[in-house]
Amino acid sequence: MNAKNKIPVGILGATGSVGQKFVQLLADHPWFEITEVAASGYSAGKKYKDACQWYLESAIPKNVAGLEVKKCKPNLNCEVVFSGLDSKVAGVIESDFAKSGYKVISNSRNHRMDDNVPLLVPEINPEHIELIKFQEYGNGFIVTNPNCSTIGLVLALKPLIDNFGVEKVNVVTMQAISGAGNPNKLKIDIDDNVIPFIEGEEDKLQTEPQKIFGELSSGKIIFNEIQIDAQCNRVNVTDGHLENVQVKLKKFVNIDQIIEVWHEFTAEPQHLRLPSAPNHPIHFFIKNDFPQPIFHRLIENGMAVSIGRLRKDEIFDYKFVLLSHNTVRGAAGGAILCAELLRAKGII
Ligand code: NAP
Repeated sequence: MNAKNKIPVGILGATGSVGQKFVQLLADHPWFEITEVAASGYSAGKKYKDACQWYLESAIPKNVAGLEVKKCKPNLNCEVVFSGLDSKVAGVIESDFAKSGYKVISNSRNHRMDDNVPLLVPEINPEHIELIKFQEYGNGFIVTNPNCSTIGLVLALKPLIDNFGVEKVNVVTMQAISGAGNPNKLKIDIDDNVIPFIEGEEDKLQTEPQKIFGELSSGKIIFNEIQIDAQCNRVNVTDGHLENVQVKLKKFVNIDQIIEVWHEFTAEPQHLRLPSAPNHPIHFFIKNDFPQPIFHRLIENGMAVSIGRLRKDEIFDYKFVLLSHNTVRGAAGGAILCAELLRAKGII
């Protein structure tokens, strides 16, 4: 695809933590071009560079810095909108865009559990895209990306479920600051501290995988019965969620078999060579103090999950540690991969 026929896209919530990541990741995208940025009434009317407290390490892309921030009204000049909207407002705004014919790819929680809305992880449940046909938005639709901690967990579990079956999971997360919104506007005391509560997070981690691993049957998702218990903590790390996971499998297997299925795991995004797809969705480390956020969160441009410390568990069967980048694989990068899959299938 040449620059002339790139698909015009807008970003809702473009000034926020996830919105900025969208701007950064889409700056040189081979298929999509940012034509619109939108946010709250407070930012609307300003140039993007003035409205946004940019906190990423790279400069604001030149083609976006001078764009005027618009209100989140469905009169934007684009075909697709990526949403990084505050969940207090995302539900209604995203529905309005879909009803007006826009293709909405959202990171917000509001529509994730709607019956006809795919909760899409391109490596896991590409067949759930079929649900779009049952939505009542005319030419528009909504596709959602899971919670930032869910995504690392489900990618690690997918090869285990497919090869051995998984009965139960216990997960304890250590989640980065950027997951709480723009770090420049942080409203929590995180210095020298750990916050043992993230509102709504444990419930998402316990329920979203059941939909993601659910079976599509006659236009409906039959939820998977996997049992998950979660505890979530906010820690003083800029980016990258670490998760301590215990699993009970349906079959007896040895450690090498688990490492092998993680190592061999590839899926549709890899076969289709989607631009944002990691070559290997899972990277396994033997070194006993890996993975670590500062060293491993940017593996494969932040789109892969790093796993280590696989060992026997006294109560479950095995335990391990995983790491995934919360604003890349867990938000903007994951949503862009969803859009790439939809494009490859001719739906965008
Ligand atoms: P954030 O930094 O607080 O950004 C929120 C965005 O929403 C800003 O652009 C803000 O615009 C806009 N907004 C707020 N009120 C609005 C209104 N009334 N009308 C229109 N726009 C409004 O939040 P975030 O961390 O980027 O998260 C965004 C969404 O993604 C949330 O639903 C979150 O749960 C989800 N998510 C976040 C992560 C992560 O790692 N951060 C990961 C996965 C999913 P102004 O700047 O103009 O106020």
